[in-house]
Amino acid sequence: MKSHCNDAEFAEALLAGTPPAHVAECEVCRSEWEALGGAIGSFRQTAHQDAERPASFWTAQRAGIRSRIPRRAMAAGLRWAFVSGLFLCIFAVMLFLPGRTSKAPVSTNTASATKPALDDDALLRQVDEAVTDDTPPAMEPTALIASEMNSALSKGSQDQ
Ligand SMILES: [Zn+2]
Repeated sequence: MKSHCNDAEFAEALLAGTPPAHVAECEVCRSEWEALGGAIGSFRQTAHQDAERPASFWTAQRAGIRSRIPRRAMAAGLRWAFVSGLFLCIFAVMLFLPGRTSKAPVSTNTASATKPALDDDALLRQVDEAVTDDTPPAMEPTALIASEMNSALSKGSQDQ
């Protein structure tokens, strides 16, 4: 004859949702199974009753949570701004620290020394061309619209 069901067997049966086979044969285990089911059922009912709230409670809770969300998002944004500003300051300090300048050996080769100067001249020429150029290619439609508006305005002032 099988011994009575232990707690592990009852727990497995509860998870499975069916009573152990031994319960059908044994009066002691059947009464324990029924008591266990009653206790769990009353616990479930009590938990549901405690969790029941009027609809106004859930509405107020939802509103409370939503009212806190933007503040937290803004606080996180401020925190990120502070951290990135701090890193920028540290970077700037490290960049301009007097003892940290690299002392590269001065090149005696005149060819390599003059090449950067040529690149600088080319760069300066490009900057000069960009500054003196009237309109960048991407802005040409805008310049066309502006010239049409100017001509329309001057035409309107001539008509008066
Ligand atoms: Zn039993």
